[in-house]
Amino acid sequence: MQLPGDIKGKTALITGSTSGIGLGIAKGLADAGANIVMNGFGDKDEIEQERAHLEERGVKVAYNGADMTKPDEIEKMIKDAEDEFNGIDILVNNAGIQNVQPVEDFDPKKWDAIIAINMSSGFHTTRHTVKGMRKKGWGRIINTASAHALVASPNKTAYVTAKHGVLGFTKTVALEVAEDGITCNAICPGYVWTPLVENQIADTAKSRGMTEEEVKSEVLLKAQWTKKFVTVEQIAGIALFLCSDAAENITGTDITVDGGWTAA
Ligand code: NAD
Repeated sequence: MQLPGDIKGKTALITGSTSGIGLGIAKGLADAGANIVMNGFGDKDEIEQERAHLEERGVKVAYNGADMTKPDEIEKMIKDAEDEFNGIDILVNNAGIQNVQPVEDFDPKKWDAIIAINMSSGFHTTRHTVKGMRKKGWGRIINTASAHALVASPNKTAYVTAKHGVLGFTKTVALEVAEDGITCNAICPGYVWTPLVENQIADTAKSRGMTEEEVKSEVLLKAQWTKKFVTVEQIAGIALFLCSDAAENITGTDITVDGGWTAA
């Protein structure tokens, strides 16, 4: 089924789109005809390769390496993107990192970095983007939150705090821009099969004396009732849906994609 609402020719800026979920969303939106502004860290040549692959879809793709801990770099990224493309129509706040330590040992520098990247960067991108969206009378703001925006897990204080904050931010912005054709929503994934997750499996298996299959089913997918990882393509599909006309009245909410995790 084709969802009504064409994003052909619109421009999407996706933070943290050199890898994993962000890259998946970039591919999904580019497939639907949107120009893309990529952001994130990584090997220069690999990023250029991904950028060129995205352009093979017949859209224009720029890369901006702004550091999401630096508000001045974020402001410049938005300005450059608005100058190069005819404004930003779709903003996906997705960049994120993780750190797992008990609260009494939690590295304060990592706390600050997680709050900055996973939560505050979305405030800075949004505050600089909303004006242009208001002028156009159309916009989509999509925040990659997490099941950890709804429930906690031990040893992830900064991540859980930041993701809960993202949900509060999502609701508040949604109300402020509601009459301007702009929606603001969060996607809350459970465990998604990304390099980040894949790379943890061998180490966890070694440290816990488990097989890799046991790590998947008894550690990672324990709370995910479908016993399946979410895929980046599924998250991209939700992002695309949120850009469609069908989602025009969906705002200030979260769409959980967690295999039943937060239902239990
Ligand atoms: P990933 O590590 O594959 O991608 C993270 C992206 O963020 C990369 O492009 C990285 O370069 C970028 N990034 C990190 N620090 C940055 C900084 N300072 N400035 C700019 N970019 C920076 O991880 P992922 O699994 O794709 O995660 C993407 C988002 O999805 C994160 O917000 C994460 O919290 C969220 N999430 C992931 C899962 C999962 O299971 N993988 C589940 C729920 C939510």
